[in-house]
Amino acid sequence: MMRKKIVAGNWKMNLSLQEGVSLFSEIANMVKDEVRGEQEIIVCSSFIHLASLSNYSKSQNNIHIGAQNLSHEENGAFTGEISALQIRSTGASHAIIGHSERRAIFGESNELLSQKVNKAIEHGLTPIFCIGETQEERESGSFFEVLKEQLKKGVFHLSAQDFSKIILAYEPVWAIGTGLTASPDQAQEVHAFIREEIVNQYNQEVADSISILYGGSCNPGNAGELFAKDDIDGGLIGGASLKSRDFLDIINVFNV
Ligand code: PEP
Repeated sequence: MMRKKIVAGNWKMNLSLQEGVSLFSEIANMVKDEVRGEQEIIVCSSFIHLASLSNYSKSQNNIHIGAQNLSHEENGAFTGEISALQIRSTGASHAIIGHSERRAIFGESNELLSQKVNKAIEHGLTPIFCIGETQEERESGSFFEVLKEQLKKGVFHLSAQDFSKIILAYEPVWAIGTGLTASPDQAQEVHAFIREEIVNQYNQEVADSISILYGGSCNPGNAGELFAKDDIDGGLIGGASLKSRDFLDIINVFNV
C-alpha cells in the first residue's frame, strides 16, 4: 500500500493573526504555482489563526489546517482550554498531540496524551502524534525503550481501525530547534523500529499504511536525504515552516 507523503508545518507560538494570514496566503500562492505532486500539506498554527486559515484554504486550495494541542476534556468548566469539537468547528482537520514541548514544559504524560488522542479521533481530527527521546536517553542507549513506552501508552490502545487514522512523527528532542539533525541513517533506524512495533501490535498492513514523519531541524538542505529513506514519509517542520521559501522547498523535495 502506498503511504501518504506529508509535510506539516508547526508554527509554534508565533505570528499575530495578521502575520499568520499573510504568511499562509504567501504559502498558498506558492503551492498553487509550484507544487504538482500528491504530497499532503498541513499547517499547524496557534488556535487564533485556525478559523481564518481554514476559510482561506477552503476557497483557494487544499492545504490542511491543524492545531498544536487540544483539551482531553469534552467541554465545560476548563477555563482557557480548547476542545476537539471547537477545533473541528473552525474547519481544522488535524492536531499535533504530544509535541516534546508539551511533554517537557507543560508536563503532559503519556496517559494524558492517550486521552487527547481519543478526543481527537472521536471528533474527526487526525492526530499527528509525536514521540522522541532526549539527548540523555539517546546517549544511554535507552531510547528504543522510551519510544516503545510512548507508543504503547499514547496510541497502542487504539483499535486497528482508529490507529490507521493517525500520523506519527519521530522528533528526537535533541534535534528540535537546535540545528542538530538526526542523520538520515539514525532517523531511518528509528522509523523502521517504529514500523516494526506497529507490526507487532497490529499487523503488516496497518504498519505499511501509517505515515511516519521526521522532525528536528529539517531544512531544504537536509530534507532530501531524510525523505529518501524507506520509512521516512515526510517531515514535521518547525523553524523552517515560518519561512515560505524554505517550507516550499521542503515540500518540493518530493517533486524532484
Ligand atoms: C518541531 O517543533 O516540531 C520541530 C521539528 O522544530 P524545528 O524544525 O525547528 O527543529
